[in-house]
Amino acid sequence: MFKLKGIAAASGISIGPAYKIGKEEFVVVKYAIREEEIPVQIQLFEEALIKTRREIIGLQKRISVDMGQDEAQIFDAHLLVLEDRMLIEEVISRLKKGQLNVAYIFSEVLKRYIQVFSNIEDEYLKERISDINDVGRRILRNLLGKGRTNFQDFKEKVVIVAHDLSPSDTAAMHKQNVCAFVTDIGGKTSHTAIMAKSLEIPAVVGVGGLSNTVKTGDLLIVDGVTGAVIINPDQATLEEYREEEKKLKGIVERFLVSKDLPPVTLDKKTLQVLANIELPEEVPAVKLHGGQGIGLYRTEFLYMNRKDPPTEEQQYQAYKYVAEELAPHPVVIRTLDLGGDKFLSQFEVPTEIEPFLGWRAIRFCLARPDVFKMQLRAILRASAHGKLKLMYPMISGVEELRQANKILEECKAELKKQKISFNKDLEVGVMIEVPSAALTADILAQEAVFFSIGTNDLIQYSLAVDRANEKVAYLYEPTHPAILRMIKNIIDHAHKAGIKVAMCGEMAGEPMLVLILLGLGLDEFSVPPFLIPETKFIIRSVKISAMEKLALEALKLTTAKEVEDFCQKKLVEIIG
Ligand code: PEP
Ligand code: MG
Repeated sequence: MFKLKGIAAASGISIGPAYKIGKEEFVVVKYAIREEEIPVQIQLFEEALIKTRREIIGLQKRISVDMGQDEAQIFDAHLLVLEDRMLIEEVISRLKKGQLNVAYIFSEVLKRYIQVFSNIEDEYLKERISDINDVGRRILRNLLGKGRTNFQDFKEKVVIVAHDLSPSDTAAMHKQNVCAFVTDIGGKTSHTAIMAKSLEIPAVVGVGGLSNTVKTGDLLIVDGVTGAVIINPDQATLEEYREEEKKLKGIVERFLVSKDLPPVTLDKKTLQVLANIELPEEVPAVKLHGGQGIGLYRTEFLYMNRKDPPTEEQQYQAYKYVAEELAPHPVVIRTLDLGGDKFLSQFEVPTEIEPFLGWRAIRFCLARPDVFKMQLRAILRASAHGKLKLMYPMISGVEELRQANKILEECKAELKKQKISFNKDLEVGVMIEVPSAALTADILAQEAVFFSIGTNDLIQYSLAVDRANEKVAYLYEPTHPAILRMIKNIIDHAHKAGIKVAMCGEMAGEPMLVLILLGLGLDEFSVPPFLIPETKFIIRSVKISAMEKLALEALKLTTAKEVEDFCQKKLVEIIG
């Protein structure tokens, strides 16, 4: 047995066998297809071959420029594999006969080819194995879309162990199959960690060297509360953690009593507690935990794990479903926040050195009005149902807000002309997550109907700390005096202008910080669904007047650690 320490990213304790995912490992699921689906599967195969060919030619050109013609020639052999009629025909004929999915059939044919070549006593042919393997993996990757692993394929609940997981990998995980995940790298507010919270899967990130230490099948304890990962625990440790797991469940149950009670403080100030969601499938969890609506719907997840971007109609259906399910409660839809650590293969966004500072969110949307308009039209159409609101991510100043609103007005005019109904008074808010927006909150408050503070980004940009980098995670401090002052500035200016302020960053769901946020005057908390009962419980346990005093005291402290210790002490005094 031995123990490693990482960053606790999603709460809870899980015990299960490790399933290691290598950087380039594929798990190909086998499933039956109907006869009428065969042409579609053949088409998928052809598209994957074309895409692979394009990739190899692109690579060849690049190598030819960078390293010369000779080096580039090695890819000729790869192109030959791609054109191997025998391989292609075998896949198609087995597809027609076996009625199984093409990715599975291709992976089987590939395995057989490699086997046959390995048995040949010819050095030249043996060398071809690596070409076949290389091209085969490219084709497979293209056949499976970007996803490396289909998590739904696992037969028992496993702990996923990986060097890194993309948010789309995490989004493909399923609670039925995965009981925890652990990665070598990553920070507490990376979108992978956020997704784990939504799925209610305990997660520990930034456990340097873990994936080199753990083997598939090792028994792991993942403690998403302290960040500990224990490999092959002894009996006593196992029992200790099983006890801990029970205790945690007890705590969750204690808070559950508040889930359907209104979040009103002891001195009668009414607040709102809403949910953050990534996918429409999370709607039942929001209701189950007593959410008073959705304060952040991260729509970019709708674009993930698929070949083409969702059409206007598909988006409309998704947004309408969420709006109707939650009505009469509000649903705040955030427009596409692509970029940063969320990449979408459909848009061919160039690789950037600093993606968090690059072509992200509203910047991308303003540069691609075709993509933006499709989403805005879908949101507007869905606004005819339920109580939708809209907000833009990563606004850095009022000009971007005006530009976005101009495009929104164009969409409204189009819909009007087409006699398609929408809510003319759709409320449009701004996410405050860039320091320049926080410092010009007074200006933005004149033109926005509401604010929602995105602390995940606001902290990373204000403190210059990459939110997804475990090496600087110790500097990622929500309690830093700069952050508290900035939040105070945002709330004060918004209230002066008569608009409400929500917070949808992870900070809003940190129990000890709820106290200070209440004192600073925050109106709405938007948190992962499972944190709703606890947030309501805390709100119902305090007086706003006392929290205002607490916030004033906290603002006088000089370091993040002092603020944290102070808030932690108060929290224990209040809820034990
Ligand atoms: C934030 O930045 O706080 C936020 C809520 O948006 P995201 O985490 O999706 O960047
Ligand atoms: Mg953000």
